[in-house]
Amino acid sequence: MAPDHRFETFLTGPMHDYFVSQTHFEVNGTWPYGERSHGILGVLESYADLLGVPPDAKIITDYLHLLSRQKLKGHALCPCGSGKRLRDCHSDDLRRLSQRIPSFMAKRMHATITPRKAA
Ligand SMILES: [Zn+2]
Repeated sequence: MAPDHRFETFLTGPMHDYFVSQTHFEVNGTWPYGERSHGILGVLESYADLLGVPPDAKIITDYLHLLSRQKLKGHALCPCGSGKRLRDCHSDDLRRLSQRIPSFMAKRMHATITPRKAA
């Protein structure tokens, strides 16, 4: 399915949830949809949700490493950690993700959670 970029969808989706969330917090002092951790943990949690994987740094890093390539190769090891080849495991999931997350974006996401090497 093609992503829905209509303004109406933005208003009734993320904007609606944002204002419901803010209002709920101001009234009750708690966040209705839960709260992410601060710092790198929160980033990993959001990436895990986006990728549909557990919030495990190694799995997320391996998924993003694979998605940052121009082409997915079936003989590559599956990033889920099963030890199987991609073609025998999460190949369909990875293809779907690569439609939503372009390789340049996966590279940026990967860089965000990978410690920089000392110069
Ligand atoms: Zn897999």
